[in-house]
Amino acid sequence: MSIEKKISQIQSQVGSKVSLVAVSKTKSEIEITRAYKFGQRIFGENKVQELVSKQNNLPKDINWHMIGHLQRNKVKYIAPFIKLIHGVDNLKLLKEINKQAKKNNRKIDCLIQIKISSEESKFGLTYNDASSLLKSEFISELENINIAGFMGMASNTSEQSILKKEFNLLNDFFNEFKKNDKNIKTLSMGMSNDYILAVDCGSNMIRVGSNIFGSRN
Ligand SMILES: *Cc1c(COP(=O)(O)O)cnc(C)c1O
Repeated sequence: MSIEKKISQIQSQVGSKVSLVAVSKTKSEIEITRAYKFGQRIFGENKVQELVSKQNNLPKDINWHMIGHLQRNKVKYIAPFIKLIHGVDNLKLLKEINKQAKKNNRKIDCLIQIKISSEESKFGLTYNDASSLLKSEFISELENINIAGFMGMASNTSEQSILKKEFNLLNDFFNEFKKNDKNIKTLSMGMSNDYILAVDCGSNMIRVGSNIFGSRN
């Protein structure tokens, strides 16, 4: 199926209330442009250098999302343009994003990454640590960031009951915080293999790569 057909298939499956982040990491600017011409405006990348170079070469009305693990010393390269940073999991990183956002006269939206899977390879904060971080006084002092919600990566399994449990827990956590904080609006969960289930479990932002662009090498 073509990139265009894939995008419209996903859109009709998840509906208009769910944002689709087209994960374009390792994919060419030609492929991104095809999706762009079809109307796709949100693209996700996980490497700073690749992201900066694509941002430089492609249309300026693209909303670029950083979905990968972000190193503090690289925040400065994306701070001028990044629309949303998905994988924030520590206060030092938040402070650096705040500092660089300030330099650029911007307020940058961030999602706190929660470790919803027990797999060792996954990043993120535990629910407890995320709670204390969000309730800490340090956060409220960071005027150039906005905590817009949460992001989670489920286990790499086809076992629906495991995925469902992980997604539902994160959705409960999200709803709990949303009650008291009007800035908390985004729940980023679901990838090519599990986005339909993720949306059923409350996700309103999915990150889909291989399902749109084909498998990566
Ligand atoms: C690569 C990646 C995706 C997309 O994965 P697919 O399985 O290709 O859809 C989503 N989220 C994150 C954080 C990723 O690194």
